[in-house]
Amino acid sequence: MDETIQKAALILKESRSVAVITGAGVSAESGIPTFRGSEGLWRNFSPEDLATPQAFRRDPLLVWEWYEWRRGIIKNAEPNAAHETLALMENDFTDFLLITQNVDGLHEKAGSSKIKEIHGNIWTARCIQCGQIFRTEEHPLPEKPVKCIRCGGLARPHILWFGESYDPEIIGSVHAFLENTDCLITAGTSGMVHIPVTLGMTARSRGARIIDINPADNEMERISEINLRGKAGEIFPLLREAYLK
Ligand code: NAD
Ligand code: ZN
Repeated sequence: MDETIQKAALILKESRSVAVITGAGVSAESGIPTFRGSEGLWRNFSPEDLATPQAFRRDPLLVWEWYEWRRGIIKNAEPNAAHETLALMENDFTDFLLITQNVDGLHEKAGSSKIKEIHGNIWTARCIQCGQIFRTEEHPLPEKPVKCIRCGGLARPHILWFGESYDPEIIGSVHAFLENTDCLITAGTSGMVHIPVTLGMTARSRGARIIDINPADNEMERISEINLRGKAGEIFPLLREAYLK
């Protein structure tokens, strides 16, 4: 492992522009279940049954109850060493972008500012009638389903659900950044939601070198040059220490 970390560190030492894509695994050590693990289940529903526009149309209360359960877990969670190291890393390179699929807000809590939350944020809601986007930080929620602060209409979590399209502005700026990236690190993502694979291929076709951090087999291995097998909270601090040397 030590040798592989040194190889990855060498790539980072030579990099001017660095991008990182994080997934649910990066928050696992903060006690937030990933979707694919067995703890990701709630009342025997899988996330694919709940995080969809169809599920919300059918039963908005059920969907909000699931989010309330997730918000309760996230509210008590603290950033771990991976989030903390990533917040420091944004000042180590000329250009840096953190792209996260996580909706828990822990990167921001750890101090990251060069960040794109491509799947939204669990503390934000959006009105399905007038489109108003607003923060909903109270836990427990005073009212479920949540109502719009502007028009009183039904509001939904401001989160990208299965089957929905990415915000073209956000994803466009991510692609633009990846055109000139020397190194892309992917961490804690299974790649089953396909976006990290797509973004990784864009970066690689422009010459970026790809490092993947994950304790288990995953889809990113196919496109990465270096696979660091371990937990994000352990690998990120070791990697940063190695490239700063
Ligand atoms: P995923 O659940 O599909 O996969 C998680 C990956 O993390 C797995 O490959 C697993 O091996 C790996 N992993 C587990 N523990 C790890 C650790 N300590 N360090 C590094 N890796 C570890 O997650 P995904 O690819 O992010 O896709 C799931 C979707 O669900 C995303 O769109 C995301 O928005 C959403 N989600 C978000 C959160 C969150 O905000 N914390 C939690 C669950 C799901
Ligand atoms: Zn409204």
